[in-house]
Amino acid sequence: MKQYDLAIIGGGLAGLSLLYHLHEAGKLTNQRVLLVDPERKGGNDRTWSFWEMGQGPFDDIVRQRWNRVTLHNTDTDLSCDLGAYTYKLIRSADFYAKTQAALSKVPGLDRRYARATDIRNTSEGVQLTVEGETVYARQAFSSLPHPLDHREVKAPYLDQHFRGWYVETEEDTFDPVVASLMDFRTPQHGETRFFYVLPFSRRRAVVEIAIFSNQHLQTETYDRLLKEYIARHWTEGRYRIEHTEAGNIPMTTYSFPRREGKLIHIGLGGGDARPSTGYTFYNVQRKMMQIAEAYPRLPDLSPWPERHILYDATLLRLLQNEVLPGDRVFVNLFRDNPADRVLAFLNGETNLIQELRLMSTVPIAPFASTFARELIR
Ligand SMILES: Cc1cc2nc3c(=O)[nH]c(=O)nc-3n(C[C@H](O)[C@H](O)[C@H](O)COP(=O)(O)OP(=O)(O)OC[C@H]3O[C@@H](n4cnc5c(N)ncnc54)[C@H](O)[C@@H]3O)c2cc1C
Repeated sequence: MKQYDLAIIGGGLAGLSLLYHLHEAGKLTNQRVLLVDPERKGGNDRTWSFWEMGQGPFDDIVRQRWNRVTLHNTDTDLSCDLGAYTYKLIRSADFYAKTQAALSKVPGLDRRYARATDIRNTSEGVQLTVEGETVYARQAFSSLPHPLDHREVKAPYLDQHFRGWYVETEEDTFDPVVASLMDFRTPQHGETRFFYVLPFSRRRAVVEIAIFSNQHLQTETYDRLLKEYIARHWTEGRYRIEHTEAGNIPMTTYSFPRREGKLIHIGLGGGDARPSTGYTFYNVQRKMMQIAEAYPRLPDLSPWPERHILYDATLLRLLQNEVLPGDRVFVNLFRDNPADRVLAFLNGETNLIQELRLMSTVPIAPFASTFARELIR
């Protein structure tokens, strides 16, 4: 049986990030490493936006950065300075190119373009099958999706489904130094629906609609909403759609299995998405760097602090049960707090005092009763 020191199952964001950080930390020397994924990554299959303080590990491939964002709903228009944070955008094509260039220098890396099956934790390590061959690794990290049916999940659960366009307009339309983070000026239909606009120049931007709801729409409906939104708020002139992007991120405090002996689950399937926002990129980098630093030991693997899971369960439950409209919650948080406090909170980087300050700016009665119920659960 072929033996590896380390197997990375799934070479998307989490798998490639972990390998990259292990390589950067000098932990892959003399290691026999398996990377298995059926896809040859290279195209721009997603755009990652996230916020962080100062320099990050992928700063050299950040396509665009913003220090100011806007938020709108039908009665509030906000323009917020992000303080110590910068909102950044990375194209996946650049991320795949950078990580794969670094990994091409790892002599012990065995790359297999195939599906891994029969993944099993054993007393000795992890056993898996690749193209009919059974192989074995002393330690394995898997970012395979963890399929969930929202009807069977007891924890609060909302899909975040989104679709967007990279557009080029014929007239100057956007302000490239200001990103539109959340714009709720569209009928909400009892859900949380918003657009975001990430401009690269006066004429080029990504415009997307995101909906927190377990009812997905037809492609034509997302497209109609995008078209109406652009015409109403940005330009009535002509524009070209260069590229489309769509996807879904489960937003849930469901307890994703993180560790089964020597098999560790990472990425979306390991619970690395922030339940209340779906943002994943930043947390994946933070956790994968911690793992790389500690390797071959394992650090604390919990994706988010316990308190934050409880806050998110509260918020998701309020949104799912339509107790509070999402536009009011998010816009009011940014209206009544400095933006960097809200962003620190959403990254799971606040202390209890900052969290109490944030809590004092939300409608206390529904939050307190739902919080108490989630705490008991
Ligand atoms: C279109 C889109 C846009 C997003 N934008 C943002 C954003 O702006 N900001 C943010 O923070 N998050 C964003 N996300 C959420 C999250 O960052 C991404 O989904 C991210 O790619 C998750 O990383 P992952 O490693 O868990 O999954 P993936 O990157 O999907 O990697 C999983 C890998 O597993 C492989 N695989 C599947 N089955 C097998 C098998 N049997 N054997 C071997 N390999 C297998 C797949 O081919 C894939 O390469 C976005 C998601 C999508 C879909």
